[in-house]
Amino acid sequence: MGRLQNKVSIITGGASGMGRVAARMFAAEGAKVVVADVTEPAAQSVVDEVKAAGGQAVAVVADVSKEPDAKRMIDETIAAFGRVDVLYNNAGIMPEADHSVIDTSVEDWDRVMAVNVRGVFLGCKYAIPKMVEQGSGSVINISSFVAILGCSNPQDAYTASKGAVLALTKSLAVQFAPKGVRTNAICPGPVETPLLMDWLVKDEEAKRIRLARNPTGRFGKPEEIVHMAIYLASDESRWTNGAAMVVDGGITVNYF
Ligand code: NAD
Repeated sequence: MGRLQNKVSIITGGASGMGRVAARMFAAEGAKVVVADVTEPAAQSVVDEVKAAGGQAVAVVADVSKEPDAKRMIDETIAAFGRVDVLYNNAGIMPEADHSVIDTSVEDWDRVMAVNVRGVFLGCKYAIPKMVEQGSGSVINISSFVAILGCSNPQDAYTASKGAVLALTKSLAVQFAPKGVRTNAICPGPVETPLLMDWLVKDEEAKRIRLARNPTGRFGKPEEIVHMAIYLASDESRWTNGAAMVVDGGITVNYF
């Protein structure tokens, strides 16, 4: 039996990076996976990979920042698998144009907030009532190490969005644990995914600083974050609620 046997798990942003790896690893632990992402071919290709490995998955095309899409994501999950045990709010963006507040446009700020914060809000808005009805559920919100320390190479909209995710996590944890629904956040350090590598490839200095600050001397691998998510999704974490799980190789505890 897998650690997530029959747990119906929605993974937003499931078509790339950590979400893609999560879809495969959750399915390998016995979860029934819903791969939610903005484009059909990418989401479907992950579903095909999961199925080829003997797992169960369906694709849902949804932009998490749009309310009708978020609602449909939950409806399609119930239609496919009859319940929702895990909402893994992983979808996020980090546009190149996001820099310091003094040179970030209102449009770029709002776009980051729409996906990274409103997306989490809407997923929770529609999934949590189902979980409360069931009397159980686990919400996993992907924040970031940038929510807990300042960065001299700023991405202020992104940083603020991840801080909001962390604060919301704590509020939900307190509200819904009495009804059986736990909410936790993961704060990954810099991880080798398209989101980070596409940016660092163009900014050698940002890459050098990040590597120099990490006591392990390397970036994380997606599976190193997903292992934490599997714990939070599973019943092993039944008394873990409102936590900010930092998985970063020690970057946030490094003074010099
Ligand atoms: P990624 O860019 O490889 O994957 C993100 C996925 O989200 C993509 O498939 C994308 O299509 C999807 N997505 C984007 N906007 C969406 C929307 N509106 N609706 C639905 N799906 C949408 O990124 P990743 O590095 O795997 O990041 C996953 C999460 O981890 C993000 O929330 C990111 O902010 C966070 N994070 C990443 C790092 C890192 O170093 N890579 C560090 C800390 C936190």
